[in-house]
Amino acid sequence: MTGLPWPPLRDPLVGDEPYGAPQIDVPVQLNTNENPYGPSPEAAADIAEAVREAALTLNRYPDREASALRDALAGYLNRDGGAGLTRAQVWAANGSNEVMMQLLQAFGGPGRRAVSFAPTYSMYPEYARNSITAWVAGHRESDFSLDLVAAEKLVREVAPAVVLLPSPNNPTGTALPVEAVSLLCEAAGNGVVVIDEAYGEFRRAGVPSALEALPRHRNLVVTRTMSKAFALAGARLGYLAAAPEIVDALRVVRLPYHLSAVTQATALAALRHAPELLGRVDDLRVERDRTVSWLREQGLEVAESDANFVLFGRFADRHRIWQRLVDRGVLIRETGPEGWLRVSIGTPEEMNAFKQALTEVRAAEEEGGAA
Ligand SMILES: *Cc1c(COP(=O)(O)O)cnc(C)c1O
Repeated sequence: MTGLPWPPLRDPLVGDEPYGAPQIDVPVQLNTNENPYGPSPEAAADIAEAVREAALTLNRYPDREASALRDALAGYLNRDGGAGLTRAQVWAANGSNEVMMQLLQAFGGPGRRAVSFAPTYSMYPEYARNSITAWVAGHRESDFSLDLVAAEKLVREVAPAVVLLPSPNNPTGTALPVEAVSLLCEAAGNGVVVIDEAYGEFRRAGVPSALEALPRHRNLVVTRTMSKAFALAGARLGYLAAAPEIVDALRVVRLPYHLSAVTQATALAALRHAPELLGRVDDLRVERDRTVSWLREQGLEVAESDANFVLFGRFADRHRIWQRLVDRGVLIRETGPEGWLRVSIGTPEEMNAFKQALTEVRAAEEEGGAA
C-alpha cells in the first residue's frame, strides 16, 4: 500500500475542473473569440484537396520538423511585423496553448517561477500547475494597463524563468507598448518573456507587434495562433517566433510527430488563402469599435480593446445578466474581474441581436430594481 488517493492525482490537481467556457446551443455565440466568418467554399476545397493528398501517405509519420509549414509561417510573419524570420526561428504546435505548455516544460519546472499580471488569460496558471512551476501573479491598473515601474520591480524580484503576457490581453483587450516589452525583457535577464499575440492581427492602426523587438532581445518569444483572426480554430495550429536556441529547446520537449500530416497540410493550404481568411479582420475591427462606442453610450464602463472582444460592466450581479442574455439566445462570457462581462465580436447581425438583448435585459433589471 502506498497510501495514494484514488485516482492518484497530484495534490494541486485535486478538485480542479477542466478549463472551458460553458457551450450552450443558442443562436448567437459570442463567447470564445472565434472569427464568425468561416473559410469560403474555394478555400475549403483547397484545404480538402491538400488533406486528400496527405491521406495518400498517412501510413507514414509526418515531417516531425514541420519544415514546409514553418517556412510558410515565417513568410507570413515577415509580412505582419517580423523581419527576415526563417524556419530556425519559428515553431508550431497544436494551438498556441500547446506552444506555451512546451515553453513551460522546457523553461519552467520545480524550483522555477512563472509570472503574469492579472486579470489575464486563465490558462496561464494551469500551464504552471502542469509543469510544476511556481505561479506568481502581479496585477494591472484599474484601466487594465501595466504599471511599468511596478511590473519591472516584480520581475526583478521574482526572477521568473518565464513571463507570460498577452498583447492584446485577454479578457481586457489591452495592448502592450513595445517599450514595455523591451523593459520586461531586460528585467527578466535570462528568463524568457512570452508575448502572446493570439489577437495580434486585430490591433488598432499604429499599435506595433512585439515581433519588432525580436532582433534586440534573445529572450523574447512572440506567440501567434491561427485560431482567431485566421478563422481556423478548428484546425488547432499555434506558433511562435523566437531565437533559434529557444526553438531548439522546444524540439527537445515536444512529443514525437506532435503535428499530424493532416494538420500540417490544412495549415499550409490555409496560409495560401491568408488574404481571404484574414479578409474580414478590418470589418471585425470596425464592428468592435462600434460596439465599444455603443456600450459607452449606454452608460457602461468599457475597456479599451485592440482585440476581437470587448470587456464591459460593471454589474452588481453579472451572472444574472449573463443568464438573462442566454435566455434571449445570446451567449457571452462571464470572465474577468467581478462585475465585468466579455462579448466576442460577431457579424453585424449577431451584434445587433446582442445589443437588443442587452437593452431588454437592462430595462428588465431597472423595472425589477424599482419594484
Ligand atoms: C484564444 C487564445 C489563445 C489561442 O489558443 P489556441 O490554442 O491557439 O487556440 C492563446 N492565448 C490567448 C490569450 C487566447 O485568448
